[in-house]
Amino acid sequence: MERSYEKYFRQNRLPHLWCPGCGNGIAMKAIVEAIEKKGLSQDNTVIVSGIGCSSRASGYMDFDTLHTAHGRAIPFATGIKLANPELNVVVITGDGDCTAIGGNHFIHGCRRNVDLTVVLFNNNIYGMTGGQASPMTPLGKKATTAPYGSIDRPFDACGLAEAAGATYVARSTAYHEKHLVDMIAGGFDNKGFSFIEAMVQCPTAYGRKNKMGSPANMLKWMRDNAVMKAAWDKLPDDKKTGEKFPIGLFYQTTATDYDTAYDEVIERAGGAK
Ligand code: SF4
Ligand code: MG
Repeated sequence: MERSYEKYFRQNRLPHLWCPGCGNGIAMKAIVEAIEKKGLSQDNTVIVSGIGCSSRASGYMDFDTLHTAHGRAIPFATGIKLANPELNVVVITGDGDCTAIGGNHFIHGCRRNVDLTVVLFNNNIYGMTGGQASPMTPLGKKATTAPYGSIDRPFDACGLAEAAGATYVARSTAYHEKHLVDMIAGGFDNKGFSFIEAMVQCPTAYGRKNKMGSPANMLKWMRDNAVMKAAWDKLPDDKKTGEKFPIGLFYQTTATDYDTAYDEVIERAGGAK
């Protein structure tokens, strides 16, 4: 029987304001499925978001939530986690919010290994403000600020997170919803900075401009181009062509998380935990 996730959503805030066919709802639902799967307490979980289409999610979710300033979700979340390390703190951010306006907060959150689960809804564009190119707009794709195609090489946010010190790094897509749930649930198990890129279709600001067809066509594009990590690793370089990209768990390690390090310094300074 299909489970009901109704209790995780603020019914008085629905229906949501996302465009018909937008992938943000799929990614938001994947987060609550992962919360349910891991048996995390609704009362002990905090959702923190920045600004942008993705970041509207915190307003629809029935947890303690903070809808913060553009790019600043990770510093808010860091403060919450340090004040009460018992809380599960989840950050919802977008490609612009996380890798442009909040780019510095992102890399330093990774470096500090703050025990957060950060889910980046990657729609490859600034959706809410009218389709400007973000640092994750692929080369050659059109945006209102790149009408002849973007010439800026995009960030691979997963590679960036790993290089900056995140201890759990994964990617999935709105098409692979069950896999996305697993990737987020794995992030909850990691005591440290967990980063999950959730690729989502934006039929309005990105798809229309790039003639990608209906939302269903955009999902089919994800289905046809995503390659599971194990298969990707076996592919010869000349087959990793076109728009193909890997999904799965890319990196996982253990390192002291920031709360623990902070507790230790308080003890060294003679204070109480
Ligand atoms: Fe979704 Fe794009 Fe519409 Fe924003 S602009 S709500 S990302 S479809
Ligand atoms: Mg975006």
